[in-house]
Amino acid sequence: MDFDETPEEIAFRAEARAWLEEHAPPFAAEGAKVSVYISDPEEEHRYLTASKAWQAHKYDHAWAGITWPTTYGGRGGTPTQDGIFRSEEAKLLSAWGVFAVGIGMAGPTIMAHGTEEQKQRYLHPMLRGDEVWCQLFSEPNAGSDLGGLSTSAVRDGDEWVVNGQKVWNSGAHYSDYGILLTRSNLDAPKNRGITYFLVDMKTPGIECRPLRQITGAAHFNEVFFTDVRIPHANVLGEVDGGWGPMMTTLSNERALIGGSPRAVFPGTVDLARRMGVADDPTMRQLMAQSYIRHQIMKYLGYRAKTAATKGVAPGPESSIIKLFLSQHLSAESDMLMAMLGPDALLWGESAIDDGRWQLDFVGQWNPKIGGGTDQIQRNTIGEKVLGLPSEPRVDKGIPFRDIPK
Ligand SMILES: Cc1cc2nc3c(=O)[nH]c(=O)nc-3n(C[C@H](O)[C@H](O)[C@H](O)COP(=O)(O)OP(=O)(O)OC[C@H]3O[C@@H](n4cnc5c(N)ncnc54)[C@H](O)[C@@H]3O)c2cc1C
Repeated sequence: MDFDETPEEIAFRAEARAWLEEHAPPFAAEGAKVSVYISDPEEEHRYLTASKAWQAHKYDHAWAGITWPTTYGGRGGTPTQDGIFRSEEAKLLSAWGVFAVGIGMAGPTIMAHGTEEQKQRYLHPMLRGDEVWCQLFSEPNAGSDLGGLSTSAVRDGDEWVVNGQKVWNSGAHYSDYGILLTRSNLDAPKNRGITYFLVDMKTPGIECRPLRQITGAAHFNEVFFTDVRIPHANVLGEVDGGWGPMMTTLSNERALIGGSPRAVFPGTVDLARRMGVADDPTMRQLMAQSYIRHQIMKYLGYRAKTAATKGVAPGPESSIIKLFLSQHLSAESDMLMAMLGPDALLWGESAIDDGRWQLDFVGQWNPKIGGGTDQIQRNTIGEKVLGLPSEPRVDKGIPFRDIPK
């Protein structure tokens, strides 16, 4: 990849920056928040409303979905332009959290596997932020091993009847639609009896119960399905063939988490100066290491963008970026706690900067677990990138109903 921007890209950056500087300020106060840390329901509602307004504003001015085809409301631009726009946008606000599942994961999956009718119905309101999406994949007994999921879908004429429980579903309590994985065939091996649905979250029989996290926020939920009827037209891809679309969603999720603007903690050097430790030799070593990691993240990001520019969908390499990000966030938040010294023990309004560094510290486990744990990324890298022998799989080829549970 040529790291220098072309004259066209320089012009695009200038155009994007000018537009953002003119249009973003009214949305900036709410948009600067980190959605997964908001613990007050009223504040969450304000954030959601402001995020939707900003997304709609961008859509109406053709700045939403830089790489999305114009047919579905996007700009039809390149991954490099997308990176340029997002980096400029992140300087002013980051109101993106609530759309991550929709625009970042469900959208690309619907584009790859949906019918034209599904694309026309769902992609425009998703990109405009009018409809927010959640991911209904994990279950109490199926997280890393998603193929073991057991929420059942039974066909009844033109509808399916769904029963079961999902868990850790980010934003489900305010979402309009969900991407849902179900077990539709007990006689097929576990990866071949899964059906992928697009589900209206207001369907009778769906109940969301928020779960409170260590940060104080309750951004994810348990979601219960009791005789939920979903039209057959909402199957994404083939009946029993949900594994393919699921892999598309998960690859996009890893790439999304790895490419998150939160990879860079703003204000680190400023904090060191304020705490009077900017000249401390040990702290300077840590900051230098942090800078090096930022550079590695940047070049890993370039590599992913180069692949995307060539039309290659995010593959197992996105596991490398995600794993590196999670290691980086751990090291970074350890450094921040060291900078704070005894003040690191304070919380909320009593702490420096209202405790936002402490939130980053306790929040570092989000990307270590969400979107596939560090251990699972290592397995993927070992098997799919390095070509090492795969783990023994004792349930391979066995009908799901015969697998001991
Ligand atoms: C912030 C956050 C947001 C999330 N949002 C969503 C969401 O919106 N929708 C959704 O569906 N899910 C969501 N999740 C769930 C997430 O995808 C799962 O938590 C994750 O896949 C791990 O599954 P589990 O929790 O069942 O852990 P388990 O799979 O039970 O794993 C437990 C431990 O065993 C290890 N382990 C398991 N299998 C292996 C193996 N084969 N080799 C080595 N080690 C192994 C794991 O690494 C882990 O340390 C979210 C999670 C978090 C933390």
